[in-house]
Amino acid sequence: MKRRIFCLCLIILSFTLPTNTQNRPIKIDNIESRLGTITSADIESFIRTFPRGWFSGVKSIKFLPEYKMIDDKLEGLGTYTRSSREIEILNSARGFDPISILNAINHESAHANDWISCADLTSVEREEFGNDILLRIKSPDRLKRRYIEYLEAKGEFIEDIAVEYWAEIALQYFINPGRLTQEDILIIEKHIFKLDPGYDQITTAIEREEITNQIFNNVAEKYLEDMKALR
Ligand SMILES: [Zn+2]
Repeated sequence: MKRRIFCLCLIILSFTLPTNTQNRPIKIDNIESRLGTITSADIESFIRTFPRGWFSGVKSIKFLPEYKMIDDKLEGLGTYTRSSREIEILNSARGFDPISILNAINHESAHANDWISCADLTSVEREEFGNDILLRIKSPDRLKRRYIEYLEAKGEFIEDIAVEYWAEIALQYFINPGRLTQEDILIIEKHIFKLDPGYDQITTAIEREEITNQIFNNVAEKYLEDMKALR
């Protein structure tokens, strides 16, 4: 059976408002993919292509060497924990290619930018943002993702589905915005331009794609070299 690539998020409620950590460095681990190691330097160059402040709610990106199953039906690739502001890429990453892992970091980073996590929003803005997403998931033209359909079929709370819908549309915005409706794009850009008014979507999209391909090539070349050495 084809393995499903999903993210599952450990959303831990926090009773304190998120802290703005815009200028703090992020601690990044090397991550093991199916083809080999993605270095922390590679991940750092990848996250530099995101809007200014997009990773301000992320303290660290960790790789969990031990196997951890967080749902009996699907295998997660990443989690974001609000209380510690940590992205964790799970051991299952060893079965995935580097691009799927970068996509997981991309998805998880959106959880640090939603109406619950983001430190740069007023209470009115938080409410509007959350309501905008709730409206979108009730719309017939919403983005169709297996993960979202799965959560809905499982009977998850609509608020939890909304959190995941936001992360999925944010991921698509950064890798393939052509898949999104104008309504979804407007919600994302409203948030991005609040964080980074000078954000240049086209230039950074090209840069992100080049860096993503470069990271894939770095890992794949090393994999081929290791394979040759084994012969
Ligand atoms: Zn998620």
